[in-house]
Amino acid sequence: MKIFISADIEGCAGVTSWKETILGEIEHFKAAEQMTLEVKVVCETLLENGVEEIVVKDAHDTGKNIFYDMLPKGVKIIREWLGSPYSMVQGLDKTFDAAIFIGYHSAASMTGNPLSHTMHTMVNKMILNDMICSEYLLHTYASACFGVPVIMISGDKMICDWAESFNKGIITAPMKEGFGEGVISLNRADALDLLKEKTIQAIGNMDGCHVELPDSFDVSISYNTHMSALRASYYPGVKRIDSYKVSYTTDNLEDMLITRMFII
Ligand SMILES: [Zn+2]
Repeated sequence: MKIFISADIEGCAGVTSWKETILGEIEHFKAAEQMTLEVKVVCETLLENGVEEIVVKDAHDTGKNIFYDMLPKGVKIIREWLGSPYSMVQGLDKTFDAAIFIGYHSAASMTGNPLSHTMHTMVNKMILNDMICSEYLLHTYASACFGVPVIMISGDKMICDWAESFNKGIITAPMKEGFGEGVISLNRADALDLLKEKTIQAIGNMDGCHVELPDSFDVSISYNTHMSALRASYYPGVKRIDSYKVSYTTDNLEDMLITRMFII
């Protein structure tokens, strides 16, 4: 069995402020260590339960957060960015049996995490086919185009609950709840125990997580500034709706992801 792990940082246990997410800031160290340990425990549990191959994408910002020297033998890691519209799941292909998302977070406009966003903080709200569009939703579709199901998500409680409402089969591991600028979080030991328990459940439940791709993708993006909307409106196929908002429609998933890559 071959598993792809996409790891972000804003949904990891304890992580609360932007400074903790920025490589080079003193506060980043603890958050990166937490992200590393969360990925590590999931890798170890997978390897103990019959998984032969694991590829991890460090999918936060610089792509250089995970302490790769702490990952178990047999795990490959994708660092930095390979320039692909598949973004946080770049490197995924049809040879994988399943994907797991770790450290994921609420979408832009959702209140479940002080660090809620969708791809970039310039976005106030992104809607995809009448649903609030999170990084979870974008990359669940990106994975589905290779026939790969997302079998587990860890992160803040609100994105875990959202994922469960979208895909009844998914296993969720909520690490914390966001309120205003703060979080109520599990401690490290309990967070890692929960990830281990949920990973075992997830590999026993891989068949229930397949997602159908929609026939068309209707996207709208509201930005925090009118300048961002103006700039995006010059991309082919993108229409300006009002001073802050643009939209585009396509029936092709890859086109949807490519346009997204250039306007967020
Ligand atoms: Zn991130």
